[in-house]
Amino acid sequence: MPSLKFIACLLSVLSACAMAKPIFAQSSAQKRIVIAASAALDGKGRVLHDTRIVVEGSTIVALDPKAGPVDYDLRGLTVLPGWIDAHVHITWSFGKDGKNAGMDGTAPDDNYRAASNAWVTLMAGFTTVQSVGSPNDIPLRDAIARGVFPGPRILTAVEPLTQQGEKAGTPEEIRAYVRKQKEAGADVIKIFASQSIRQGGGLTLSQEQLNAACDEAKKQGLRTLVHAYKDAVRAATLAGCTEVEHGTLATADDLKLMAEKGTYLDPQAGLVIENYVLNKDKFLGTPGYTAEGMAVMENVLSMNHELVQSAVRTPGLKVVFGTDALAGSHGRNAEEFIDRVRDGGVEPMAAMISANSLGAEALGMADQIGSIAPGLQADIIALDGDPLKDITAVRHVVFVMKGGIVYKNVAREAIPVYAGVQP
Ligand SMILES: [Zn+2]
Repeated sequence: MPSLKFIACLLSVLSACAMAKPIFAQSSAQKRIVIAASAALDGKGRVLHDTRIVVEGSTIVALDPKAGPVDYDLRGLTVLPGWIDAHVHITWSFGKDGKNAGMDGTAPDDNYRAASNAWVTLMAGFTTVQSVGSPNDIPLRDAIARGVFPGPRILTAVEPLTQQGEKAGTPEEIRAYVRKQKEAGADVIKIFASQSIRQGGGLTLSQEQLNAACDEAKKQGLRTLVHAYKDAVRAATLAGCTEVEHGTLATADDLKLMAEKGTYLDPQAGLVIENYVLNKDKFLGTPGYTAEGMAVMENVLSMNHELVQSAVRTPGLKVVFGTDALAGSHGRNAEEFIDRVRDGGVEPMAAMISANSLGAEALGMADQIGSIAPGLQADIIALDGDPLKDITAVRHVVFVMKGGIVYKNVAREAIPVYAGVQP
């Protein structure tokens, strides 16, 4: 007869299991799911017609037009891999007073708002985001990864290197800073090499400092994202950094050099500045946001359009999708697609690829996400409309599956609940 102690132990293990077993993980237990699609973008530039996607557990296992029975009939919609946003600030919100509250608050309210940002981002079709970054990203990233909380897969830079000039330290100190971020759980290193564009966008690190940061990250097996305008774009490229963020006022020669060196560019064609303009009163007077700075920003919008147009004309340049989503723009990330196509001259298919296979490649995750292919994570979304014909279809996400779990499946022509919401 088993001892009471054993039974008590067994019961406690069972109940612990029952309690710990995440609700979302439960429903994915190796169940086979068949999705019917009449038009599916594979994420790499091909359109698959009249196919069925077979999912087992968290993974796509086959594309088989004869597979059945069908669990989700997505015919008439455009099916594609879940989008990847290379640049968000997932914990950045407006506070209770309606004003910009930044991304580093740790009060319960701040945490609920961060959770809400994650939820609306997922509902908008973004199944992976790179948050660059705040230490608050870590618990949110980990809760979502454990399956106990819904949200996009999060990669984070933890704390960016923001110090300028000598304050950023010697090359050796910068190397130590990079290692410290890795120890804190960083997936990527974020480096500021330019002032904010609101302050003129000047270079803030020497070539030697940038070289040290990007070289050390490489040694640690991490990628580097560099906030760079003007001259900093070339400096970051020469330093062998992985990706340039923003890139405003980069010259055609800078972009050519990036293409030659395989440096990714993540420009913002609109959403981030449109959002600042839309929510001007909520930012004004909060740290970093002056009336003069906000006025500059409105001029930057046309410079950013020119940058994207110039990027499109640069053969071989790898342009990924990133929105710089912050307070007011979470869940509206897809607006950036519309800006890029409408104002940047980006082909709709190229815009989709930038947030699918190319976005995955830039994260070093092309073997896991970004395409609809056997062996990859079942991150699958569907739009009511065809983004190749009308890019505004990106606003109509009616189906979201991440890692084989369906988080959204609403009636076609339903008005997307989150499109207009600004958490
Ligand atoms: Zn940013």
